Amino acid sequence: CGVFGIVGVADAANFVALGLHALQHRGQEACGMVTHDTETGFHSARRMGIVRDNFTSSEVMATLPGEIGIGHVRYSTAGSKGQTAIRDVQPFFGEFSMGGAALAHNGNITNAASLRRELIERGSIFQSSSDSECIIHLMARSMGRSIPDRVEEALRKTEGAFSIVAMTRTKLIGCRDPRGVRPLVLGRHGDGWILASETCALDIIGADFIRDIAPGEMVVISADTGVESYFPFRQKSSRFCIFEHVYFSRPDSILGGRSVYETRESIGRELAREAPVDADLVCPVPDSGTPAAIGYSAESGIPYGMGIIRNQYMGRTFIEPSEQIRNMGVRLKLNVNRALIRGKRVVLVDDSVVRGTTTRKIKEMILDAGAAEVHFRIASPPTAWPCFYGVDTPQREKLLAATMSEEEMRQHLNVDSLKFISLDGLYRAVGESGGRDPAQPQYCDACFSGEYPIEPADMIEQGFQL
Ligand code: 5GP
Ligand code: SF4
Ligand code: MG
Repeated sequence: CGVFGIVGVADAANFVALGLHALQHRGQEACGMVTHDTETGFHSARRMGIVRDNFTSSEVMATLPGEIGIGHVRYSTAGSKGQTAIRDVQPFFGEFSMGGAALAHNGNITNAASLRRELIERGSIFQSSSDSECIIHLMARSMGRSIPDRVEEALRKTEGAFSIVAMTRTKLIGCRDPRGVRPLVLGRHGDGWILASETCALDIIGADFIRDIAPGEMVVISADTGVESYFPFRQKSSRFCIFEHVYFSRPDSILGGRSVYETRESIGRELAREAPVDADLVCPVPDSGTPAAIGYSAESGIPYGMGIIRNQYMGRTFIEPSEQIRNMGVRLKLNVNRALIRGKRVVLVDDSVVRGTTTRKIKEMILDAGAAEVHFRIASPPTAWPCFYGVDTPQREKLLAATMSEEEMRQHLNVDSLKFISLDGLYRAVGESGGRDPAQPQYCDACFSGEYPIEPADMIEQGFQL
């Protein structure tokens, strides 16, 4: 998911809409916005589908007045399976004795099931199936005297990955979980302040990037008093999601002081050194494989070409929840550039292999087009474990790498070669020159290593075995 919030500007809703549009790659199932206007109070709109189809008409935007607003783009993850219902669409809103508050969450709460059970036993009435709703109910039960106090108390009971943007009538609140699994950045626009999942959402409105919100940090921002910062949780070592660098974030974003694009290009260079091959052409699987393919080509000296053309009007295939649509999706989205491919030994670079659906379809298309050889190079290690922190990976059984070795995957996909970057190579590409520290990994890499930095309590309760 993606979150965005802004305070201290006229017509906040316009900024929220633009920010969410820039974060659209983080979720396309639904989007929502809450604003507050001093004269008319809180306003909200929650819709299915993408931002462009919902928050562009002046009719809708006129219903969202105010100088403060937050928004959310959603894709459903481990917690809330299946089709999004409108009642699951964020931001969530609650009325408290000291006034209303709205909240938007990116990540996944790993103890949501037990929190929900407890809260329901004690009288909470849940409106949605979303893990994020727990936070609003925890806030309602809190004795805190201000909304920020209640957010803080609620989040102290919440485990897992959370980057939160919340608002009261006058204050914007931001918080990252103690591991800092998901991103959150602070920006400035004139007299206004912004919180957003990624810096690309600052660029779109011409805002300045101030800094990352730190793991475990909570900020309370108002137009008058500026930014107050707290560290309410017991300190833990940071574990930013390494997959944000590989795939999830936009390449033009800066995360943890690093350009996502440059990281991806370095991954390609590492791959070329770790897994060279004699070939005529390096092609990305667009768009997610493009920067790594550029790096692979530069390092290997093999010419780069666009052997696969992407239809720009399709979203990310993976994000479609049903398997049937996902299967069709590859063809709806990608087509082979036959004239370039024919007779060539082709290196295809993609970011990841999950179920193997994309890889298999692309191989068929490339061979149909007359390629002489097909070599896959993957910009992440084999995805052998599900993510429980906010990225939608399927159950373990459906992950190709959970049951097969690299050579078995190569045979299964029937390609001339298949190589993944090593975990150490990936760490070097994100700037850890000494590679991964096995005693204290610098990032979360659980989907590759199976080492979960936060115990996935709900999943263990459901029988998941570490
Ligand atoms: P597969 O087809 O192997 O199941 O999925 C891999 C493809 O899905 C890659 O091309 C990757 O770009 C894309 N993808 C989209 N969303 C995700 C995600 O959340 N996790 C992973 N690992 N890959 C994703
Ligand atoms: Fe990111 Fe993978 Fe960790 Fe999930 S398990 S947070 S995708 S690194
Ligand atoms: Mg892809």
